[in-house]
Amino acid sequence: MDARDQLRRYLEQRREMGERELVLDGLTVEEALRIVTGGSTQPAERAGRQEQPHVPAAPVADLPADADWRATLRATGAAPTPASGRQPTTSPPADAASATRQTPAAPSASGVPAEAATTARPAPITVGSPAGELFGGAMAGLDTLDKIAAHVASCTRCPLYSTATKPVPGEGNPNADLMCVGEAPGATEDETGRPFVGAAGQLLTKILSAIDLRREDVFICNVLKHRPPGNRNPRPEEVAACSPYLIRQIEIIRPKVILALGTFAAQTLLDTKLAIGKLRGQVHHYYGVPLIVTYHPAALLRNPGWKRPTWEDVQLARRILDSAASGA
Ligand code: URA
Repeated sequence: MDARDQLRRYLEQRREMGERELVLDGLTVEEALRIVTGGSTQPAERAGRQEQPHVPAAPVADLPADADWRATLRATGAAPTPASGRQPTTSPPADAASATRQTPAAPSASGVPAEAATTARPAPITVGSPAGELFGGAMAGLDTLDKIAAHVASCTRCPLYSTATKPVPGEGNPNADLMCVGEAPGATEDETGRPFVGAAGQLLTKILSAIDLRREDVFICNVLKHRPPGNRNPRPEEVAACSPYLIRQIEIIRPKVILALGTFAAQTLLDTKLAIGKLRGQVHHYYGVPLIVTYHPAALLRNPGWKRPTWEDVQLARRILDSAASGA
């Protein structure tokens, strides 16, 4: 099997495991597969929830059969060489400087030093305006977190209520400075009615304690408030039906920082299809609230190599909290 076949097999395995980002290279699995297959990523029905932008196929250089998959990607021009690759530190590499310059600096209100944006990522995303209500209409009457939870408990806006065991509206400090937003309840959350209490939740608790936050200091919730059967991917109509609750929660809590956990929460909140590797490591804004993207703790359990970037992301969140506390 040559290096290209090895790489294709590797990527297909990753896709079958439900992964969509090839984080080392800032490529989605779909993008990488398009490159190595010359455009086709069949079988299409396994491609998952997110359509990814087309990346034109690049010619694959002749590589020795034992070349590893990173070398193959580099030969296609799809991955940076080690010398110019992402360096998730506070000092951008010299050749990333021009790209970094094109990235608008985070507003000073965030208190984040400019060097926090370390790579040639697309510009940070701003959703909504800092002024005014996030959400009005019928939900505007839900002016406490308890009222939202009661509304969620009797919600029939999408069919998920009929297959779920318990609603999982979210929990934590109503005055939290940090709000963690995940995808949807899993099995343990569905049984208990509490967010992030399974294995991923335990890791989240540890991640929070690494930045001196206790679980009870923050507010933890999900985009979806009922479990999708079998943990399947949330559907757009479910997200549309459930989003008002999340928006209202954000509006009531008015956190200093939102931490979007994983691709789904990040893409939903930021209304983008960009891969998580391109979204993390910088400060976005959601109706004026700084929003940091990081890996989902469940993904972290499968990929311990993502611990370091996650650590950097939560440190970034910590710096924003600290500068907000000092009034900077
Ligand atoms: N994964 C999530 O996204 N949310 C939870 O509450 C648990 C696991």
